[in-house]
Amino acid sequence: MKKIFSLILAAALLFALCACGSTQQDAGELHMATNAQFPPYEYYENESIVGIDAEIAQAIADKLGKKLVIDDMDFDTIITAVQSGKADFGMAGMTVTEDRLKNINFTDTYAKGVQAVIVPEDSDIKSVDDLSAEGADYRIGTQKGTTGDIYAEGDFGADRVDKFTTGNDAVQALLNDKISCVIIDNEPAKAYVEANEGLKILETAYTEEDYAICVAKENTQLLDDINKALKELKEDGTIDSIVSKYIK
Ligand code: GLN
Repeated sequence: MKKIFSLILAAALLFALCACGSTQQDAGELHMATNAQFPPYEYYENESIVGIDAEIAQAIADKLGKKLVIDDMDFDTIITAVQSGKADFGMAGMTVTEDRLKNINFTDTYAKGVQAVIVPEDSDIKSVDDLSAEGADYRIGTQKGTTGDIYAEGDFGADRVDKFTTGNDAVQALLNDKISCVIIDNEPAKAYVEANEGLKILETAYTEEDYAICVAKENTQLLDDINKALKELKEDGTIDSIVSKYIK
């Protein structure tokens, strides 16, 4: 009887250990949540995710003595992944906003972003103001959950905004005349315009913003560690040299 009992106990313990092991990450790993459709910050080159964020994250992981693991997901699931502990931090050309700060912490900023407007070369949209002109009914494409999406909805009304899962999907819809423009961060905008014939970026920008890394509210140790690493990487020129590798 005793033997059976201890066997059951051992089995239960083993089960608990396995169950725990499968959801908990390796303590030696640092998981970054991103959406790898955002060149030059994160994108696929063959099978691997490269870009400014990927390289800065690698430099941070090296400083923290951890192995960087990049988890690719839809942009609008990154904050939840970080909040729930599925990922340790989110890095995705992510803009610091008051709303996001209610749910998550941001590190010090490491880059500036600008919301740009992509239009077909022959578009009659000449400036951002044309989008809100009286009687204007242009359809505006955005990437779901991004600041461009949130601002566009606020400025032009939800019924004029078409939300796409990735920036690339929005650009494809623009190429197929399904929408009149795409509002997206200007570095990916440049990459999309370069990769596709017949598109241009409006000279007037939509908004300017700061990019930072997001960390769960309770994970203040990691926030401090990343900020310390970022500071060193800024001071020794690493961040500048990574950025200038991707942005000429
Ligand atoms: N900077 C924008 C934001 O934070 C877009 C980021 C992205 O699409 N990866 O919402």
